[in-house]
Amino acid sequence: MLGQMMHRPLSVIEILKFASENHKSAEIVSVRTEGDIHRYSYAQAFERVAQMAHALGRMGIASGDRVATLAWNGYRHFELYYAISGIGAVCHTINPRLSAEQMIYIIQHADDQVLFVDTTFVPIIAALRSQLPQGLRCVVMTDRAHMPDSDLDLLCYEDLIADCPKTYDWPEVDENTACGLCYTSGTTGNPKGALYSHRSTVLHAMSLCISLGRFLQEGTRVLPVVPLFHVNAWGLPYGAPLAGASLIFPGGALDGPSVYKLMDEERVNSAWGVPTVWLGLQAEIAAKGRNPNGFSSVVVGGSAAPRSMIEKFEKSGVSVCHAWGMTEMSPVGTHGILPADMIATKSLSERLDLQQYQGRRVFGVDLKVVDENGESLPHDGTSVGELYVRGNAIISGYFDNEAATAEAFDSEGWFGTGDIAVIRPDGFLSIQDRAKDLIKSGGEWISSIDLENVVMSHPMVANCAVIAVAHPKWDERPLLVIVPAGQEHVSKAEIDDLLLQHVAKWQLPDAIEFVDELPLTATGKVSKLTLRQKFANYMLPDMK
Ligand code: ADP
Repeated sequence: MLGQMMHRPLSVIEILKFASENHKSAEIVSVRTEGDIHRYSYAQAFERVAQMAHALGRMGIASGDRVATLAWNGYRHFELYYAISGIGAVCHTINPRLSAEQMIYIIQHADDQVLFVDTTFVPIIAALRSQLPQGLRCVVMTDRAHMPDSDLDLLCYEDLIADCPKTYDWPEVDENTACGLCYTSGTTGNPKGALYSHRSTVLHAMSLCISLGRFLQEGTRVLPVVPLFHVNAWGLPYGAPLAGASLIFPGGALDGPSVYKLMDEERVNSAWGVPTVWLGLQAEIAAKGRNPNGFSSVVVGGSAAPRSMIEKFEKSGVSVCHAWGMTEMSPVGTHGILPADMIATKSLSERLDLQQYQGRRVFGVDLKVVDENGESLPHDGTSVGELYVRGNAIISGYFDNEAATAEAFDSEGWFGTGDIAVIRPDGFLSIQDRAKDLIKSGGEWISSIDLENVVMSHPMVANCAVIAVAHPKWDERPLLVIVPAGQEHVSKAEIDDLLLQHVAKWQLPDAIEFVDELPLTATGKVSKLTLRQKFANYMLPDMK
């Protein structure tokens, strides 16, 4: 027997409509490429979204068309998220840190009709012009006074919307209609597209508000350092208006001092981003001797948060949520907010033990760990295998890419993450490594994350990465690459002593190399691929 309930399609534009009516005191604050700060309410945003929807219609954009963005976190980018999906078209966010080759590939693969671009990125478009599809129109996300000098045929965002009505008769779209498209950064091979639907996006936003609710409430001032140009800024452009939180968009200045200043001036409560950004912020906090005003929580994800980073935040009164997810998962899969009873009863050290894991699954995401034969392993805290996921906000295939799709799922339709993990009886997920980053030594595995976690706690280490180096006898051995915190280099003996408190002797890195900085991926994570290439012919001491 079926239930007798109305079927109202889940729709992204309804989120902003809801916020415009119900969260009157929340605001969107943006550091603009024009150099100043812009602020307005969700109601004002909703009006400009309507204007942009009209402008898109005038440009001939119809349901199902792909409209691309190449932009920082700011209010115009936010408007495009809603205007494009609101008319039934697809908002394709492009990561400006992709290589030219990858960018051209995804613009062609997505068949983008229009490209919205921040002034900062106009030079990228100019450099690529000969390879861009003919007929691709470019709109610069600024006003007439700030339009760049360029011989490209560029349209102006503010001109486009200037005379458009501030209301729009939003069409009712099927909830399975695509609303957003984001390509993985594709460390190997071509990028692969995750095509989000209205349904998956709304369900993900609700799940975010429930699971991370303590960090995302009515009145919270949230800073997404995580970019709108990659994986929907972890769902914040949807979750924040739903919850009634304010969004503080940082624009392009993401270094420690700039982030600190913005957080301090705008009294940001909750800041979300990858560990590399927080290393910069923590250095600035140390220099200033205090936290930014109002700072009370941080969400760290995208790569493993070192225990020492979590400890520094927690000791200064900032609650940490260590989260895990993927582009293919919208992206949030697990969150590390501790259960209230643990916060009340556990010591700091016991809490840190748990927080270095990647947390518990959010509602709507199922997790399983399987062995090499695809058999499910128990959630016993020790059985290690590949992590598979399924859920309402997880891709069912890659956009227009049968080959990649065929490889990504098991026979029961679960998506293979490529992460090696353990699930504990209490539900906490522990990511050991990406399968391709594990170090295979004499038939045993060494987790690069485990070693990095310990090394990061040394005061003479600003950042580090452990990578595999080919070895004639052991297959691979670990090489530790350190960015020193000061002038002096920590000795190998000292690092070994520290590591031996946590890992077995055979897991110790064979050598240490010091570098000024670590290479980053397009999403701001340490690029182990680039490091492995750099040290491809490295001679470990016992090979010389
Ligand atoms: P890309 O790195 O190409 O931008 P994603 O942003 O989708 O792609 O990255 C997803 C991957 O990032 C996960 O499969 C996992 O390996 C890694 N990751 C994400 N969060 C964490 C975390 N908290 N700890 C360890 N690894 C993480």
